[in-house]
Order: sequence, then structure tokens, then C-alpha cells
Amino acid sequence: EDLRLSDLPGLAAAVATGSPILACYILDDDSPGDWQMGAASRWWLHHSLAALSNDIEALGGELYCARGRPEKILRELADCTGARQVFCSSHYEPWSAVSEECVQMSLQAIDVNLECHAGSLLWEPEQVMTRSGTPFKVFTPFWKACRALMEPPRPFGMAALRFWEGKALSGVSLGELKLITTSQDWTQSWPERWQPGEKGAEVRLREFLAESITRYGKGRDFPAVKATSLLSPHLHFGEIAPNRVYHSVREAVLLKPALDLEAEKFLSELGWREFSRHLLFHYPQLPEKPFKSSFINFQWAGTPETLKAWKDGQTGYPIVDAGMRELQQTGYMHNRVRMVAASFLCKHLLIDWRVGERWFWDSLVDADLASNASGWQWVAGSGADASPYFRIFNPTLQGEKFDKEGLYVRRWVPELSGLPDRYLYKPWAAPHSVLEESGITLGDDYPLPIVDHKIARETALDAYAQIKSA
Ligand code: FAD
Repeated sequence: EDLRLSDLPGLAAAVATGSPILACYILDDDSPGDWQMGAASRWWLHHSLAALSNDIEALGGELYCARGRPEKILRELADCTGARQVFCSSHYEPWSAVSEECVQMSLQAIDVNLECHAGSLLWEPEQVMTRSGTPFKVFTPFWKACRALMEPPRPFGMAALRFWEGKALSGVSLGELKLITTSQDWTQSWPERWQPGEKGAEVRLREFLAESITRYGKGRDFPAVKATSLLSPHLHFGEIAPNRVYHSVREAVLLKPALDLEAEKFLSELGWREFSRHLLFHYPQLPEKPFKSSFINFQWAGTPETLKAWKDGQTGYPIVDAGMRELQQTGYMHNRVRMVAASFLCKHLLIDWRVGERWFWDSLVDADLASNASGWQWVAGSGADASPYFRIFNPTLQGEKFDKEGLYVRRWVPELSGLPDRYLYKPWAAPHSVLEESGITLGDDYPLPIVDHKIARETALDAYAQIKSA
């Protein structure tokens, strides 16, 4: 998706032809196969398209929306408008190349040219290779190689747009795309939290540069601290160009050199976004297949009950439950907690990481095929540059370390808010009198742990030993 008008190379190339432009969005639910957009992403897309449509109307144009096969729709559009060229951005999901080829062939048949432009990454996959011409599998050398390349192109803003004025087209309305359904009660409070669209992305970037960046390096691991940018859904939907984010951060450092370390850490996280996409480009099976083949025979053993408890935020481990509830209520989860909650699923509950990946895919507003797959494989230990399997997060210690004052957990697991800090991450260890004073009956107001950490840890290590010896 590239739902913006600024810093969009494909759009700038279209403007440069001098011809009027017809902006077009096609919802294609066929090409992604099993990876159709999830519910939270559809909510975001609906609002992002509404914002884009408003922006285009303010400039005297109209956003043409359609649903179906792009090769068919674009051909009909070209036939009907007499367009000679179609411009788009390149994408790296495994189905994108096939889809691009189909569009190209279909347009070629009527003598219309398709131009695909860069625009969703800082560096294109073919630009970043090892000396021997193979893809990088480890992040640090990958990022070093990126930074040794020429800087990504500077953002150029918005070209002067002149829109096509014909009226003979009947697309579908935003409502007819049926991206949101009335049963989505869980998204009711989202408009207070999120502002999908190009303006919302710009506001987030400004806020981050004005405030949170000063805390980024240390604060980014603490879920109760406002230290990260919250740009992930905006970047995923292409509402802001990654090179705009990159150069804005670099400029902030020029103005205030003391920000250098924070900025470098932030840029390296953008680097992880790049790394995931490069990996997906070279290993299209990343969302489905362990990158390390030794994990193919891993013996998963979870149950539907434990999976349900995880999804509902009812595992009895407060930091995991807080994260899962944050996800359900906001479509987002803090990165530190994503790692802890994901690790709990695949190591403590021994549930296949692909099951968790699917749940995140449906629930996250920033659901991104590459970042989600590489995040899950990193946690599961099967990824390209993954966390070693034996590093099993202890959910109690993670809570105590990264949410010391319990602000995050008390917000998302309010039934525990009366517990003193020292028991907040292990309510089962609290004396009866403390629980009583805090108004909590374990097993009633809040669950007892669904697994014992020590036993779960050993079971997970045993399962790993089996694939290692095999
Ligand atoms: P910031 O810290 O402000 O980072 C800036 C940007 O860098 C982010 O917006 C994002 O685009 C990118 N980024 C940061 N960390 C990572 C990372 N580890 N991997 C890839 N890109 C990163 N991120 C997604 O965008 N979509 C996903 O579907 C997704 N699924 C994940 C699943 C798991 C199991 C894990 C552990 C991580 C996942 N991440 C995913 C990565 C990360 O959690 C989010 O990008 C981050 O929390 C977004 O918050 P932010 O924008 O405030 O990040």
C-alpha cells in the first residue's frame, strides 16, 4: 500500500509526463491467498483511504476505488479513459511480483505501459548484498552495508497534481469495499488513539521528533514510557515514506548533536524493517516455514484451551496478559511486550509460532507480512538472525524489569491494580492477607498461572534438545 501523495516516486513520475492523473486504489483479496488482510488492518485501510480521498478531493480530484483483479480493472480503466501509462510502487510480498506481471501483460496487450517505482524501502533488495552477491542473513552486517551505501533519496514533497476530469467511471464507494463491519465493537475507541492517513503520519513524526526521541535509546524497552514513534501502521500503509522519516531524524541530529545515539538506535530499528523485507524478498516462505530448517520437526504441544487463554489475556502472567489485552483493545502492542507474549506462546505453551503469527496478523493495525514473520521467527529461535532458543523470557522478571512501577500492567489488567508492586508480577506468591486487602480472589478475579514457569521452561528446552540432536 502507498496511501500518500508526498514523496511518492511513482506519482512524481506520472506528474512528469504532463498528462492528467487518475488516482486509483484496487482492493485485491485474491492475490494474497491465505494472507488476505486481517480485520485490524482493514479498519486502518478504510480510514486511510477516507483520508486520502479527502486530500485528493481538496485538490480537485477523485480517488477511484475498485475491488477485484488489478489486471482486469486497470485494463478496463485504461480502455475507458484512454490512459497510456500506469504507475505504481514496487512491493515485496511474495504475491506482488506475480500480480505485477499479470498487470503488465494485460496492459501490454492494449499498448499501455506499466512503470513500477521504488518508494516503500530505504534501499531496494538488490542494492544490499554481501560481497559474494548473496543476501545477508545477519542484521548487523546488513545494516552496516546499508549505511555504507549512498544515503536514501531525500524526500521531495508533493508534485503539482493535475487530475483527470472525466466522469464516465463507476468505481465502488469506500463503504462498498466493506472493509469495516458493524460487529467491530472492539475498534470503537480506536479513532481516539489513531489517525490513519498522511496527516496523521506527519503528526506522529513531529511528535516523536519534538518529544519522544530524547528518550528513545533507553526508554524504548519500557512499555509505560512514551519513547517510541508509533509510526509502524503509517509506515506499513505507506502513509509516510521511510526516507522522509530517515532524513527528518538525521536533520534533528544536525540541529541537536546530543540526539545522535538515540537517533542511531531509532534508525537501526528502521533497519530491522528493511532487513525483514529483504529477507522476505529472498525467502518468500518466511511467513510459513522456519528459516532454520532444523526447526521443521519441532514438536509443538499446545492445547486449544491454553491458546484461548493467551488470546484473551488470561494466562495468569500479568505482563503477558497486559500485552494481549493492549493488542485487543488498541490494535497495537509495545515491542518489548510483543517479544514476551510471543515467547510465552511458543516456549511456555509450546504452541506453533505460526498460530501466534496469524493472531497478530488479524489483530495488529501494523500487521506486516515481513516484520511479523521475522518477529515471530526471531522469538521462536528459528529465524535468520534469531534470539538463541535457550533464551527463554521469564515473564515475571520481564515485568519487574521493564514495568517496575507497574503502570503498564495496572492500565491493562485493572483487576490487579490494588496489588503492591512486589506481587504485581507474581500474584500467586502474594500472602492470602495481601490478596484479600487488594480485593483479589485468584482463580476468580484473575487466573492462576496456566503453566508453571520452571516446568514450562524445562519442557521447552527438552523439545529443543530433540531437534538439536536430530
Ligand atoms: P519504533 O521503535 O518507533 O520503531 C520505528 C519503526 O521501525 C517502526 O515503526 C517499525 O516500522 C520499525 N521497527 C521497529 N522495530 C522493528 C522490528 N523489530 N522489526 C521490524 N521493524 C521494526 N512490526 C510491524 O511493523 N508489523 C508487524 O506485524 C510486527 N510484528 C511483530 C511481531 C513480533 C512477534 C515482534 C517481536 C515484533 C513485531 N514487529 C512488527 C516489530 C515491532 O514490534 C514494531 O515495529 C514496533 O513495536 C512498532 O512500534 P513503533 O512504531 O513505536 O516502533
